[in-house]
Amino acid sequence: MDSIQESAQTVPVAGDSEVLVCGGGPAGVAAAIAAARAGASTRLIEMHGALGGIWTIGAMAHVCGMHASKGGILREIQGTLKARGAVGLSERTFDVESTKLLLEELCLRAGVRVRLHTRVAGVVRAEANRLAAVVTESKSGREAWKARVIIDCTGDGDVAAFAGCGFDIGRPQSGETQPMSFIAIVGGIHLDQVRPYTHARVRAPGEEAACHKHRLRELLEEAGAPPSYSLPTLFHVREDLFILMSNHEYARSATNADDLTEATLRGRAEVHAQVRALRSLGGVWRGICIVATSAQIGVREGRRIHGRYTVTAQDLSGGARHPDAVSRCHFGVDVHATNPNQGKGITCEGAPGKPYDIPLRALIARDVDGLMMAGRCISGDFLAHSSYRVTADAVPMGEAAGRVAAVAAKSNRFPHEVAWQVHPVTLHPAT
Ligand SMILES: Cc1cc2nc3c(=O)[nH]c(=O)nc-3n(C[C@H](O)[C@H](O)[C@H](O)COP(=O)(O)OP(=O)(O)OC[C@H]3O[C@@H](n4cnc5c(N)ncnc54)[C@H](O)[C@@H]3O)c2cc1C
Repeated sequence: MDSIQESAQTVPVAGDSEVLVCGGGPAGVAAAIAAARAGASTRLIEMHGALGGIWTIGAMAHVCGMHASKGGILREIQGTLKARGAVGLSERTFDVESTKLLLEELCLRAGVRVRLHTRVAGVVRAEANRLAAVVTESKSGREAWKARVIIDCTGDGDVAAFAGCGFDIGRPQSGETQPMSFIAIVGGIHLDQVRPYTHARVRAPGEEAACHKHRLRELLEEAGAPPSYSLPTLFHVREDLFILMSNHEYARSATNADDLTEATLRGRAEVHAQVRALRSLGGVWRGICIVATSAQIGVREGRRIHGRYTVTAQDLSGGARHPDAVSRCHFGVDVHATNPNQGKGITCEGAPGKPYDIPLRALIARDVDGLMMAGRCISGDFLAHSSYRVTADAVPMGEAAGRVAAVAAKSNRFPHEVAWQVHPVTLHPAT
């Protein structure tokens, strides 16, 4: 490939905080709120114009893996949205716009300094095995941000990769990753009339759990728009507002801008064709329309950064327990087809799953000191990632990372030097 030499430049230091969180998705928002509430000066940098990551930018505001044992910031978000009338009947699907607003309010109230529209574009390494700063690009140009502890919540592990940390992507042999999905928010239909096709249907005795998805697929096929995802889902948000997940973009890399572009163009064309096809059926579908589409195609898998512990499929089959657990994961293996010729749905790949713990060590980078990860880019293998990537675990991971980062920064230690012992049942810090 042809190349060109850029001239070196001096970059202004735009900020210096105790904790710097990069990426404002479910994990990053929780990390920033927790660090600020623990008394650390905290900055959150996000490349898009809103917080929430896949919940908002990805338009897929639905929580999987919820369990009675999950508390903290996750419950706070869910409870506040419920009080504002911004959750669907399952109470696990959120109104996207209300979620954006609430996450901003929570961050600002906690004292987090938020910088939107700013993308992490590099790092500067210090002499010791740590980072001196993160470098960003935005309308303000190139800027550097110093911090004692940095938490990579970019989903794809961008900060850790720039820092030279080791990582894995996809299946161990082939590198195949789960497909991306382009999401649409749809309106113009009413729950009373389309309930059997939605996530909010009442299950008849003996009815298969996914029957509403099969019904929707058959309807789309009948209408002449067979979906690339064989289990298309309409998530109920309000009586006349739904989230439609019906697209799969196979064999695309989260770290390749051409792939992301092609997947976005194809995904948008497909969901528009699906909605047009449903509208052409008339009847209860005659008014269906797209209200919004995701600002960024939903990426299920990017880099899994090497940490001081790697969560594996064996942890799931054995129901691993750890004294430094940050979340007990209740969601099983959930692999969206990596090869459309072998099915276009979801499988658990025969991997048995029991509730298992994610230890703090999986959130601490192995190769660089003072760097943590939270959310889907933590240290794990392909199958384990397909389970712990869900938001009922991303938020507690972020919350724990934020607290540990605050303690480390304030006591001038590295995160791996902070003791994190939890009560074995509640998983709340024991000290
Ligand atoms: C299509 C789809 C459907 C899903 N369905 C569900 C579901 O129903 N329930 C569920 O619980 N989970 C679901 N998931 C999984 C879940 O949404 C994600 O795994 C979860 O959002 C991970 O949270 P995160 O904060 O680690 O990453 P993300 O939500 O991806 O957030 C990362 C954030 O970092 C920002 N960012 C990235 N790179 C940079 C950079 N270089 N500089 C600055 N900012 C950056 C992004 O803009 C984003 O805001 C789904 C995922 C997808 C893709």
